[in-house]
Amino acid sequence: MPAPYNELLDATIQHLENLKSQGVRHVAVAPETLHALAQPAKIISTTAPAPKTETTLSMPAKKITAPAETKAAVAPVRLPITSSSPEKTAAFAELQKRALSCVKCPHLAASRKNVVFGVGSIDAQLMFVGEAPGADEDEQGEPFVGRAGQLLTKIISATGLSRADVYIANILKCRPDTPGQSAGNRKPTPDEMATCIPYLHEQIDLIKPKVLVALGATAVDGLLGKTIGITKLRGNWQTYRGTPLMPTYHPAYLLRNQAMSEKRKVWEDMLAVMQKLGMPISEKQRNFFLKARNFFRQD
Ligand code: URA
Repeated sequence: MPAPYNELLDATIQHLENLKSQGVRHVAVAPETLHALAQPAKIISTTAPAPKTETTLSMPAKKITAPAETKAAVAPVRLPITSSSPEKTAAFAELQKRALSCVKCPHLAASRKNVVFGVGSIDAQLMFVGEAPGADEDEQGEPFVGRAGQLLTKIISATGLSRADVYIANILKCRPDTPGQSAGNRKPTPDEMATCIPYLHEQIDLIKPKVLVALGATAVDGLLGKTIGITKLRGNWQTYRGTPLMPTYHPAYLLRNQAMSEKRKVWEDMLAVMQKLGMPISEKQRNFFLKARNFFRQD
């Protein structure tokens, strides 16, 4: 077997093991890739654009519904993989175990269905931080799977990356309770944020992303302690403990405000992130939202 093939296979197995240890149960695989995997001696191209299908990691677990990918035809991009050490994988699993049994906020521990720890690659170069799980996330135990999450997935796909390439977490790991209300969300309180944020700090310390994206004012407040408006901050690089941090609008804001100009702002923030990571940017990507075509349409 050629050495590059074996290296690629090892890296792929390592990546899947990492995902599995983080609770990921499904990964998107192009039919062509599945076919190519049946031809062991061939090197599989990771850049060919192809429709994705879902395959399942062999773990007995509840099914997590992967949000729809973007409609934009963007060639998938792979950032270089640095395989995590067994120590890192173990430390992450231990952190996750601690978070999953956390009862530091008794009211949230009583009302939650799931602790929503985080999802993605623990070797990710890019990490997104949101506010707190909503009802869908609480139900499924995975961040950003509701409507705002589906939009975030489309934004990620528009860069050429997938959810499995990045890491996604929240300031709060439990859904803020809404006593007396049958639906709706509320912002986390300062006390809840202060209690929960050490878990996120530990996640970031272990993952060591090259770039952080803070989605909305609560994420900026939690990570940087800045309460000046997200409108003023977005698009301007900040630093979280030495790591470049891009504040941008929360996808829920884009669902409320469908103006093309607001989507373009978020996209410009993502272009800056892609540039910082040295990712390829096509002419088509540069022009998203400058024309009538809407690349992360919500429908
Ligand atoms: N909004 C967030 O901030 N986080 C989620 O996980 C879902 C919606």
